[in-house]
Amino acid sequence: MSNINESYDQPQIEAIIRDKYPLLEQSLLELLAIPSVQGTATDGAPFGADVKEAIDYCLNLADKFGFTTTDGEGYIGFADWPGNNDGQIGILSHLDVVPAEDKDWQYRPFTPQIVDGRIYGRGAIDDKGPLLACLFACAVLKEAGFRPSKTIRQIFGGNEESGFGDIEYFKKHFQEPDCGFSPDASFPVIIGEKGIIHWELSQKWQMQDQGDLLLVSIEAGTAANIVPASAQAVFKATLDGKKQIKDLLRQYPEKARIRISERDQQLIIDVKGRATHASTPEEGLNALSIILRLLSFINFAPQGAKTYINIITQLIGNDDYGCGMWMGAADELSFLTAVPVLLKVNQTSGTVAIDLRFPVTHTLDYYQKLTHAVAQKFDLTISTFEGKEPLLVKADSTPTRELLDVYHAHTGKEKTPLVIGGGTYARAFKNFVAFGPYLPNEKGMAHMADEYITQEKLLDLTRIYARAIYALAK
Ligand SMILES: [Zn+2]
Repeated sequence: MSNINESYDQPQIEAIIRDKYPLLEQSLLELLAIPSVQGTATDGAPFGADVKEAIDYCLNLADKFGFTTTDGEGYIGFADWPGNNDGQIGILSHLDVVPAEDKDWQYRPFTPQIVDGRIYGRGAIDDKGPLLACLFACAVLKEAGFRPSKTIRQIFGGNEESGFGDIEYFKKHFQEPDCGFSPDASFPVIIGEKGIIHWELSQKWQMQDQGDLLLVSIEAGTAANIVPASAQAVFKATLDGKKQIKDLLRQYPEKARIRISERDQQLIIDVKGRATHASTPEEGLNALSIILRLLSFINFAPQGAKTYINIITQLIGNDDYGCGMWMGAADELSFLTAVPVLLKVNQTSGTVAIDLRFPVTHTLDYYQKLTHAVAQKFDLTISTFEGKEPLLVKADSTPTRELLDVYHAHTGKEKTPLVIGGGTYARAFKNFVAFGPYLPNEKGMAHMADEYITQEKLLDLTRIYARAIYALAK
């Protein structure tokens, strides 16, 4: 047998992984049976007794493998594999899960079950399966005789899904690892997150009630980070007013998405789109934008409302990339998106909320100035402004370089790091990146009904995480 501290002995590692797999699977089934949704805080269990039980379960398992465990008072826990030299590599995963109800599932969320090679249960892929794959990867390397040069600290979080209270506790009591990864997003390696601004543009005007079409209201959107799936405008209309809209719609390019109905003297326009997360507008169809474009072709009163609709259509109604307000931008890793997500207009005022995500190498301060310039030019008021700086870990340093090499060696696929629009758990610490468990373009099961991980994926994650941990700690 060769010495694993000199070179990675693939066949030996594979044999140990196969040998340990039944225990890994059994452990995952037991862990999935703990319904670790955030619950009522009690003494020593700030996120509820079930979250604490899940953390304790993993600390116990780590202890059996011979790692040194630390109990973070029910907030978080970690297991150390001490290294021969200074330095520390962190692996950050979480044990809390989002709620799930029996009635929405074909299988049962907290009574895990294996069917056709799939392990079903809430948390199977987010994030209990990947967490155990990492823990077992460490146990496999240990059994193979590997002696890490740096300490490997596996951190079991208890509050990723609702507020990062686990990370807050950790930072108050312990030092951040030098660098590391979080198996809670996707491969190859996510090294950055765009900056995010949630802002609202409002305007007020005088009421005025003459004309064939009088606006009553416009409404669209459900949340500040979701592309609206529906939008509605209501008008008080004369016969001529109704005719104007019907004539327009007869040859309107987006008419398949638009439905008109009448109620007394009111004409109601409904638009159907397709919801998606605001960080990936290209995957949805924005009903708010569609209704803006339509309304910009219709003459209606009050004039103030009509002017407001024309302005915001020009600014954000025609594209999702900020071009209409001269903000279109990109760097070598990412591009800007600007998506209208909420719209409320009545007879005397209007407000539109915009989800803006800017390139990872740009600054919040720059976009704060731009948004104010836009508002000023069109006499709009910024009624809400919340901004978050982007995050970026260097592409050519540890841990990104090592993890990309491992991904390439394991899959044969190209090794380009990714920047995404949304946030990941890796945001918790400096020099942390997201690494798996999804493959690029793999459809996500996280937070969905009948969440599962396949047995094959659980095995394969153990293989790739073993190589990754070896590469970072050798
Ligand atoms: Zn997660």
